[in-house]
Amino acid sequence: MTTLRVAALYPELMNIYADRGNIAILRARCEWRGLGFELASASIGDELDPHAHDLLYIGGGQDRDQVAVSQDMASGKRDALHVAADRGAVVLAVCGGYQLLGHSYQLGDQTLPGVGLVDLHTVREDGPRLIGNCAIESGLGVIAGFENHGGRTYLGPDEQPLGRVLSGHGNNGEDGLEGVRRGNVVGTYLHGPLLPKNAWLADRLIALALGVELEPLDDRLEDAAHGSARRAAGL
Ligand code: GLN
Repeated sequence: MTTLRVAALYPELMNIYADRGNIAILRARCEWRGLGFELASASIGDELDPHAHDLLYIGGGQDRDQVAVSQDMASGKRDALHVAADRGAVVLAVCGGYQLLGHSYQLGDQTLPGVGLVDLHTVREDGPRLIGNCAIESGLGVIAGFENHGGRTYLGPDEQPLGRVLSGHGNNGEDGLEGVRRGNVVGTYLHGPLLPKNAWLADRLIALALGVELEPLDDRLEDAAHGSARRAAGL
């Protein structure tokens, strides 16, 4: 049986705004199609096998939890994440997890290390948190969700965003860009959780991770949830 093997990174620390719902949707959409689903976790001090997972997931987190997570990730999981991404595993990172995919997250006089999977950095600048419903045009389709971040993220010159902001703040409230996408590595500020509000995106990620085409499901409820998230963002 074809099985999606998922690793959740730091699930007990990086799961703000019900971000664990992303895992529930991946599981449901595999099982509804008769695909296998395996879930492993790797938290502080755990080894990460770079060959054992098709999709690696990290959710959002509070600044204080990101301090411990960033150190463990950069010292103990950086190489494994690079090897996994190089062999085409999907890496999905939301908000606090997204920030840690880059080079660094600067919090006042403290600089948290990132794993450098993508060329970006994040700074906790003065100014309000960037909060609200958000929708982006991603090239794959419209992604709708909710953002709440103090950090502002800046992409390097050759890095591509996940999408362009249609409504909301995005990476930094200024350049109109949201998230990052480099091959199968996807980072975004959007909670909701992300995948329950954008079930079509869950399918794209499963298909990328497994290298298969997926049969459609009856998505009336999922499409209604997506429509409601779009309307909440003013589309
Ligand atoms: N703590 C980070 C910030 O405020 C990320 C927040 C989050 O994951 N929602 O920027």
